[in-house]
Amino acid sequence: AKAAGGGCYRVFETGMGEELRRRQTLKVDLSGAIERGELELAFQPIVDLRSGRVGSFEALMRWNRARRGLVAPAEFIPTAEETGLILPIGRWALEHACTEAAGWPAEVKVAVNLSPFQFRQTDLAQDVAAALRVSGLSPGRLVLEITESLPLLGNCENLTVLHRLRELGVQIALDDFGTGYASLGYLHQFRFDNLKVDRSFVCSITKGREARTILHAVTRMAHMLGMTVTAEGVETPEQLRHVQMEGCDHVQGYFFSRPVPASEVGALIASLNGA
Ligand code: C2E
Ligand code: CA
Ligand code: CA
Ligand code: CA
Repeated sequence: AKAAGGGCYRVFETGMGEELRRRQTLKVDLSGAIERGELELAFQPIVDLRSGRVGSFEALMRWNRARRGLVAPAEFIPTAEETGLILPIGRWALEHACTEAAGWPAEVKVAVNLSPFQFRQTDLAQDVAAALRVSGLSPGRLVLEITESLPLLGNCENLTVLHRLRELGVQIALDDFGTGYASLGYLHQFRFDNLKVDRSFVCSITKGREARTILHAVTRMAHMLGMTVTAEGVETPEQLRHVQMEGCDHVQGYFFSRPVPASEVGALIASLNGA
């Protein structure tokens, strides 16, 4: 029994060691990823339901890790946040996304995700202003997506940063709406331009009346507060029909397209707009 116990302990220890080593090499590799040119942005179209045309693209980060291939953001963004690497990586994404978008048709915007950790730096607004300046993108074509996953607005300084961003003339979207705990509290603290209803919620709308009623009410409320509503993760014609019926303004999801490399954006706009 003793030997078995010892064996179990050793197995557990080895497992922990491997996990630590895995995370350590992830950190080391990630810290050089920008210099080695391993980071990329994929772009996913967001369709304006009224016009039926592409209104914007969301920039989604990809890490083409040496010898290991493509790593999804869910795997490396948390590490980037833990290590502080999210600051240079976030700056890179902002500048790169704006530069790409500057080459698109003028009516197409770009949406960039901001980590709550980027709000801890005092000069986030300066970074955004710099990205706009370097790229020449007009501020009205940049949307910043803020996630509610951290108690971001509980902090007055963060609210000040949000107002400073707004003063630059960019739009601000509240991402993943319906997943957090402070959803409604957020809405009366800051006037967002756009509300992105989370995919998990969109998934449930074909399963019952309740979810549709909630979506309907959320959309009405958002409109009354001067916000537009984007449904995330729409994959089927049935989901599309429902989010349209409940009044959503924009749709994003595999139904229209998966995220594509920057080089395919032009062709995708042409095909979705039916040109
Ligand atoms: P998000 O901001 O909610 O982005 C939407 C995610 O849903 C993307 O996953 C996208 O590929 C996926 N998606 C879009 N349509 C569909 C659909 O119809 N079905 C399904 N199943 N999924 C769909 P992705 O690219 O893996 O990104 C995951 C998360 O990583 C993002 O969630 C965002 O929170 C974070 N992220 C991505 N890029 C960045 C970045 O540049 N900076 C920061 N801070 N976070 C990022
Ligand atoms: Ca997002
Ligand atoms: Ca989202
Ligand atoms: Ca999400």
